[in-house]
Amino acid sequence: MKLTELFRKDKLSLSFEVFPPKTDTAFKTVKTATEEIAKLHPSFMSVTYGAGGGTSRYTLDIAKNIKERYGVPTLAHLTCVSSTRETVREKIAQMREAGIDNVMALRGDIPSSLVASDRAGWDFHYAVDLINELKESGADFCIGGACYPEIHPESENQRQDILYLKEKVDAGCSFLTSQMFFDNNLFYNFMYKIREAGITVPIIPGIMPITNGNQVERAIKLSGSFVPQRFKSLVDKFGTTPAAMKQAGIAYATDQIIDLFANGITNVHVYSMNKPDVAAAIQSNLSDILG
Ligand code: FAD
Repeated sequence: MKLTELFRKDKLSLSFEVFPPKTDTAFKTVKTATEEIAKLHPSFMSVTYGAGGGTSRYTLDIAKNIKERYGVPTLAHLTCVSSTRETVREKIAQMREAGIDNVMALRGDIPSSLVASDRAGWDFHYAVDLINELKESGADFCIGGACYPEIHPESENQRQDILYLKEKVDAGCSFLTSQMFFDNNLFYNFMYKIREAGITVPIIPGIMPITNGNQVERAIKLSGSFVPQRFKSLVDKFGTTPAAMKQAGIAYATDQIIDLFANGITNVHVYSMNKPDVAAAIQSNLSDILG
């Protein structure tokens, strides 16, 4: 099923993100965790893609398994940076074969080991190139793209970032999922600007429950997200006490979701990071609101 057909306009709905194993030996553990999350029956589950190949084949294995065994619609991620056209076409063919309906088209992070001259011969430079390739493949995918309420770290300014975002939508993105943020006002501000720029597709905010103190620094470094004082105080207080930090992080994420819904956002994506207990706790905190 295409995700655009199931986005809710009236009630709150939650989707969860999982990631494939980084090693072959971890496959079974990851598969079990993703199945536990699927049993919560979220509106859909997204499965990330390990840029650069390696165990990337597991993205499709996991997405297919969740869809076929648990009936949960899935969104398979795909990155294109530094991949050849031939490799990308092969991946697209595999997606079609696996019955994937929804694809998250991403550029991927540029490996720091690559120098500028290496990039000249690439077939794909930006996510929009992948969206064009997906469209040209003739497959009837529902395509999603990434967006950044606090602008993409490589962008010079938000205006330009939003212009490029519009290009992705015009090329065929039917919805956008946002990078994590810890201050909802940044998301509301972003929504206002992108609607003003003529981007009308659904925007799904991405919420990351920070459940251990060590995760904070890494998550923020990767995303470049602003950390409000309220969140800093929470990490200062509970960061070294795992159970308390987990409870506080889940409560903070829950609070963000409630505020989003109260402000008219009905579809929220949770970066559940292969943690069924975290996904279940958020869902349970919202049980009466989810209805
Ligand atoms: P793009 O949309 O191509 O944008 C990248 C940069 O290039 C931006 O600064 C943009 O302004 C600029 N730009 C865009 N188009 C042009 C153009 N035509 N000319 C000049 N500049 C341009 N990474 C993974 O490896 N695997 C995943 O599964 C994954 N999932 C993600 C899911 C979400 C929701 C998000 C927000 C990110 C995800 N990422 C993932 C990380 C993502 O790959 C990185 O953030 C990457 O650096 C940018 O990808 P993009 O698709 O947003 O790139």
